[in-house]
Amino acid sequence: QAKEVKEELESLIKDKHLKESVQVTTTGCFGFCEKGPIVKIIPDQTFYTQVTPEDARDIIEEHIIKGRKVERLLYEDPKTKKKISDSVHMNFYKKQLRIALRNCGIVDPENIDEYIARDGYQALGRVLSIFSPEEVIEIIKSSGLRGRGGAGFPTGMKWEITSKVDAPQKYVVCNADEGDPGAFMDRSILEGDPHSVIEAMAICGYCVGANKGLIYIRAEYPLAIGRLLVALEQSKKYGLLGKGILGSDFEFDIELKYGAGAFVCGEETALINSMEGRRGEPVIKPPFPAEKGYFDCPTNVNNVETFANICPIILKGAEWFNSIGTENSKGTKVFALAGKINNVGLIEVPMGTTLREVIFDIGGGIKGGKKFKAVQTGGPSGGCLTDKSLDMPIDYEHLVAEGSMMGSGGMIVMDEDDCMVAISKFYLEFTLDESCGKCAPCRIGNKRLWELLNKMTKGEATMEDLEKLIDLSHTIKDTSLCGLGQTSPNPILSTYKNFKHEYLAHVKDKQ
Ligand code: SF4
Repeated sequence: QAKEVKEELESLIKDKHLKESVQVTTTGCFGFCEKGPIVKIIPDQTFYTQVTPEDARDIIEEHIIKGRKVERLLYEDPKTKKKISDSVHMNFYKKQLRIALRNCGIVDPENIDEYIARDGYQALGRVLSIFSPEEVIEIIKSSGLRGRGGAGFPTGMKWEITSKVDAPQKYVVCNADEGDPGAFMDRSILEGDPHSVIEAMAICGYCVGANKGLIYIRAEYPLAIGRLLVALEQSKKYGLLGKGILGSDFEFDIELKYGAGAFVCGEETALINSMEGRRGEPVIKPPFPAEKGYFDCPTNVNNVETFANICPIILKGAEWFNSIGTENSKGTKVFALAGKINNVGLIEVPMGTTLREVIFDIGGGIKGGKKFKAVQTGGPSGGCLTDKSLDMPIDYEHLVAEGSMMGSGGMIVMDEDDCMVAISKFYLEFTLDESCGKCAPCRIGNKRLWELLNKMTKGEATMEDLEKLIDLSHTIKDTSLCGLGQTSPNPILSTYKNFKHEYLAHVKDKQ
């Protein structure tokens, strides 16, 4: 619908002979998906929500020509019922700090000049002109940035390992194989600000000694692919990719590799197999890709959000980034808020923000005034957290301590009507479908778990089945080859821990 709104606005601007003074620009996602399509008027910052093509006439005739805001398109605060005309005063944005998403909803992703106007490619320029690779790695290390793909491995340390391997050919890979149900963080960054990732990959290439970058992106992201291709073309034209970047002797180029949408290919060894044209199956580590990766060459793999944090760290300094967040989790994290929540959307908050702030302040609480029941963080590999965890600061350590994980940033909220056994079955169906089948615990064990859950949801399970379900979950966790299998029982184990009574309610011979 946003496309139709834009076309209608452009046609009206033409009809009213306003082309000299008014320009319509497409941007990436503003994050406030619940209220899209959004039209923002600059310079007065008026933020119109849920705009339809029919509303375009009022925007042009009332706002642009007569200078009067179109009241009915302004956001209404659900609590105070007051109309708010700019995003700065909306609860959805107030507690956010946008570093990785800094340009999303602001720049035209297909116009490199707009990226450059917001300090784009300055970090690369600075790195190439005044820093040695070691100095940049030191900056990233002291910033405390950790991989945003899920595991949270220190980014600077990862770069350092690849940089120290002596090899004639090295690679930088951007993992854009986002596959969690309900997660769209990476897609949004690539659709809204592709140059931020391209620039960071070039910086990484300079640091680790690689002249070739690869972006592994799922083919189901056509808009992100299209915008990346435009951005790559523009960067080459501006001398920001290719030979002799910005007058230096550094050479770096980027190519796209398309994934077929297998969740397991988010795991870096499976991703590399897939890029090499083989089955997307994980392999046992070590050796790690940093030493032996793409076609056996040292390969540094980071995900989209990790790369999107690099340039601000170079420009504002490690200390600035390090001052945001908690003791061991620095900076911000992007989350895709979904499920039974009023403000479905994409948010970025400082690490240490509580779940309560995310769900009730930014997310606007539970849909239909229902009671909050649980939130699943970390996607299908994560766990369900209850109201007992609402005041827990969100960071890598706290989430793991509570039986969940950060994952890539999916956050699905459930209300009092949700059955936790059915939720576990939903997530298990996903992992079952996505298992590559290489190892028995994941391939066969998850199938048996599904059968047990199916019996439960049909009211046919016994106490013995319930015991088997929990026992087998632990076995799969302990014996699977890769992260997918090792974490696939997490939704069962965490919901069983917090909602045991619901499992018992599904058992026919309970005492
Ligand atoms: Fe494949 Fe599952 Fe084994 Fe991972 S745990 S290697 S996804 S079968």
